[in-house]
Amino acid sequence: MKKISLCRLCLSRFRAKNAALQPAKLENACFICKGLVGKLDSFLETALAQSKEFEWSTFAVSTSFSKDVFVREEKVADLFSPGDFSSLKNSLNAQAISRISAATGKKSSQRFAEATFLLDFISGKSNAKPTPVYVYGHYLKFSRKHCQSRWHCSDCGGRGCESCGGSGQNYPSVEEEIGKVLQPLFGAASATLHACGREDVDVRMLGNGRPFVMELKDPKKRAPDLGVAEKLFAENSDVRAINIKTVPQYFVDAVCNSHFEKEYSALVSADRPLTAADAKKTESLSGTMIFQQTPKRVLARRADLERRRKVFSISAKVEKGGRLRLKILAEAGTYIKELIHSDEGRTKPSLAALLSRKAACDELDVIGIRDYFLETLA
Ligand SMILES: [Zn+2]
Ligand SMILES: [Zn+2]
Repeated sequence: MKKISLCRLCLSRFRAKNAALQPAKLENACFICKGLVGKLDSFLETALAQSKEFEWSTFAVSTSFSKDVFVREEKVADLFSPGDFSSLKNSLNAQAISRISAATGKKSSQRFAEATFLLDFISGKSNAKPTPVYVYGHYLKFSRKHCQSRWHCSDCGGRGCESCGGSGQNYPSVEEEIGKVLQPLFGAASATLHACGREDVDVRMLGNGRPFVMELKDPKKRAPDLGVAEKLFAENSDVRAINIKTVPQYFVDAVCNSHFEKEYSALVSADRPLTAADAKKTESLSGTMIFQQTPKRVLARRADLERRRKVFSISAKVEKGGRLRLKILAEAGTYIKELIHSDEGRTKPSLAALLSRKAACDELDVIGIRDYFLETLA
C-alpha cells in the first residue's frame, strides 16, 4: 500500500498510530496542505506588522483554505476515529492565536475582538484590521434644514456638481455633523449613523435627544477622550451629540429596532384665527385611537396600509396670531403632521376634521423620546 506523506504539523494532528502515514521529506510534499502550514510564520509576520498601525487589546483569527485541502484532509481522516485527530483549520487557528499572544501579550476574544487577523491560505495573503468602534449617545437637532442620513445629490450621485455647490449632498445631515467630530477623533475610515427612528428634515429634535449609535470603521484609536468631542458638539448650533460612550455592537440592533412613545410640540394654524373653544375641542382627542392610512408624502417608499395609533394626550393653548400650540404624547409611529391636517381624510380622526377647518402644522418639534429601556442596557 502506498504511504501518505505528511508535514510535521499535519502528522502531529493525527494522534493514533497508523502505518499508512509517514513524515514527508520536504514540508511542501505534504499530501494534505502541500506546505501551506509552513507559510504561517510569514503570514503572521505581515499581519503583526500591520497590527502596529492601530490600537487593539483583544483579537480574533480567521483562516481560509481552498476546498481541495479539505477534500484531501477528509481522505486521511477516514483512516481514523473522529476523536483521534484535530482539523487543519482548528489547529492552525490555535497555533496562530498562541503565536499572536506570545508576540504581543494580548488576549484572543472571538466575540469582543478589537483586531481581526485574516490568514488567507487561498490567495496567499494575510492582514490585520481593526474591528469597528460603536459610539452610543443621543442627538439634538436645532436646525430645520438637516436630514438624518447623508443624502446624495440627485444630479451627481455624491460626486459634487453645480446644483449641490460641490458638496455632493442635497441637504446637510445629522450623520455628517456627528461624523465630522467622531471620525477624526477615532482616526476612522468612515462613519455611519444608526438611529432609533427619524424626524423629518424640517422637524427639530429637542429634549433628551434621539438615541443613536455611530459605527466607525477601521479606527486607529479605540479610546480617545470623548470630552473633546462633547466640547466640539457644544459649539455646533445645528446638531449636538450628548452623553456619548463606546458600546458593544449589539447596541446597533437595540437602538434601530426599538420603538418609543414620543412627545411633540406643534404650532398649528387654520384658515381663520383659532380660539379657546378650538383649543378645548382639540384636547378632546386625548386618549383616542386614530387610524392613519400611509401618508401620501411617504407612499413612494412605504406600503399603503392603515395603522392604528394611540394619542395618549394633547394639550392646546392659543398663541398670538390665532394659532394653537399643542403638546402631544403619542404612540411610536404616529404621523403628527397628518393628525393635524388629515392628509385629505387619510388620517381619522384629525384636528382639521374636528374643527371643520383647513388646518396646517406650521412647526413641529420632537421634545421627548421615552427611551428609558435603552438606558438599562447602557
Ligand atoms: Zn501539512
Ligand atoms: Zn450634485
